[in-house]
Amino acid sequence: TSFDVTCTSVPTAAGPGVLVSFEDTTHLQQADQMRRDFVANVSHELRTPLTSLMGFIETLRGPARNDPVAIDRFLGIMQSESARMERLVRDLLSLSRVEGQERVRPTETVEIGQCLQSVVHALRPVATDKDVTIDLVLPETGLTVNGASDQLVQVFTNLIENAVNYGGAGNSVEVAAHVSENAPSVRGPAVIVTVTDQGPGIDQVHIPRLTERFYRVDSHRSREMGGTGLGLAIVKHIINRHRGRLRISSELGKGSEFRVILPRETRG
Ligand code: ADP
Repeated sequence: TSFDVTCTSVPTAAGPGVLVSFEDTTHLQQADQMRRDFVANVSHELRTPLTSLMGFIETLRGPARNDPVAIDRFLGIMQSESARMERLVRDLLSLSRVEGQERVRPTETVEIGQCLQSVVHALRPVATDKDVTIDLVLPETGLTVNGASDQLVQVFTNLIENAVNYGGAGNSVEVAAHVSENAPSVRGPAVIVTVTDQGPGIDQVHIPRLTERFYRVDSHRSREMGGTGLGLAIVKHIINRHRGRLRISSELGKGSEFRVILPRETRG
């Protein structure tokens, strides 16, 4: 805990006095520290691909300038490093946009079944390339929420992409949705979507921190997958904006379940 202490001289009935006031500044200092950590993280994440790009440019202008095989290989690496920077900037912009909108309630009527169908359709080719199958289990009707459809698409894309990437080859991912008439976590009717994988699972100690910006269980693995470390932070902010909840459960060696609970549309 930290305090700002201010002393002011004041006249009192008994003569000159001193007014001492204490202001609890713990939350301000914590916010300040978080901002500094965030800037340091962003700088680090951008510097790594930049350093690599600069190194390759130097080599291409020098020792490798007449070696077509090396030129081709280095340009390939430079392309993937640039793509990494592009993903990072895209995710930073998404994050800052959703953080700014958190208090603005989205009002579109979104059919979650259609939303999931389009996300699964878009991700199936990627999953097939990695030898992962995606099963989608939907009830007939009733999956309507008030929301922002592009943001909900982003939530499900991030969760299903993670399940495909971290689940590993030969596994299957199940995406299922159902309606609950009374979900305690949103105090009322809800649409519940679960994304389940049979991957390596996540140790319990990491679970509460997964939605922090740049928090990764295994940085090397995340980077190899092309991850920015911002996906679940974006997911959390979008779900907050929808007054929903994210629940993560996982068992090492068995797999993980990411559960999104969204208040169901109530008309009138
Ligand atoms: P990243 O870009 O690294 O995937 P995320 O914010 O999406 O960032 O996820 C944060 C971390 O949570 C990941 O680096 C990974 O360690 C872990 N994670 C997320 N989803 C899964 C999953 N389905 N199985 C195992 N680990 C996961």
